[in-house]
Amino acid sequence: METLTGKTLGELQTLVKDLGMPAFTAKQIFDWLYKKRVSSIDEMTNISQKHRGLLNIGLIFPTQHQTSADGTVKYLFKTSDGRAVETVFIPDKDRATLCVSSQAGCKMNCLFCTTGKQGFHGQLSAGEILNQILSIPESDQLTNLVFMGMGEPLDNTDEVLKVLDILTAEEGFAWSPKRITVSSVGIIPGLKRLLDESRVHVAISLHSPFPAERLSLMPIEKACPMQDVLELVSRYDFAHQRRLSFEYICFGGLNDTPKHSLALAQLLRNIPYARVNLINYHPAAGVNLPASNPSAMVAFRDSLNSKGIISTIRASRGEDILAACGMLSATARDEFNHPMRVSSI
Ligand code: SF4
Repeated sequence: METLTGKTLGELQTLVKDLGMPAFTAKQIFDWLYKKRVSSIDEMTNISQKHRGLLNIGLIFPTQHQTSADGTVKYLFKTSDGRAVETVFIPDKDRATLCVSSQAGCKMNCLFCTTGKQGFHGQLSAGEILNQILSIPESDQLTNLVFMGMGEPLDNTDEVLKVLDILTAEEGFAWSPKRITVSSVGIIPGLKRLLDESRVHVAISLHSPFPAERLSLMPIEKACPMQDVLELVSRYDFAHQRRLSFEYICFGGLNDTPKHSLALAQLLRNIPYARVNLINYHPAAGVNLPASNPSAMVAFRDSLNSKGIISTIRASRGEDILAACGMLSATARDEFNHPMRVSSI
């Protein structure tokens, strides 16, 4: 049986042709899947019963969830081949953000990240990414989506772009691209495609203005130096609808000093509409890095703002359920027995 969730309109057109179904049924199925969001194939009443028998929506519901005192909910999914994937729902006043994973594990091995420590367990298909959005109980409430869960989205660019296409298609979810942020360490070929082929917001993990120091935190600096990333993004327009932000986890005494704020402001001086999000570091198991204290983060933020770099501190969320933005680390074996924190978006 053919699984439908995650298929683009083009892929559905090929599928219905291969199955001997009328060409117009591709649009009908697309509408049922992503506009009407049905969860049962039998609700597709304008598709013949014979053809419905060949199709399967393929939704997989979470196997576990944990709820924080602040309302943040962490979901665990198992893919059809048994890989563990985590997704975090973050309600915040009039916003309801879902933080989705794009890979099971991650190859990037950032020093501070528990996802990186668990290694890479495979790409998620567009269907497995969309499934995180469609199968949670809060699916209809979502106002925003961030690709900040497990994995590096631009190491899985084809599938992530398919998801963005479905979410923003007028005949699909019809979401404004302004509701979606893709966060990346800055893999240049994928970033270029994201910038050219979508209009979503972009967040780039920076964490140090000094190349050698950034390399010690993020091995990607070697293949994709931040200078080259900045050269690329400087060619795009962020003065209007699209937003560019830089993520900066603050490590006490390591990257939150006046020397760092000065160098960071200089580094971003030619990216006029960029903003910097300062993120609290919550020490993770097996990682020997210090967290900044709150007053150092405030001083760092104020220093950046005084130099013309718009900077904010992102509030942490869901600490009591141990969940962290970019620090998800479930494996099929340990499930929720691991540290995990979430930052509000
Ligand atoms: S921070 Fe993101 S890119 Fe780096 S290892 Fe963790 S999940 Fe991968």
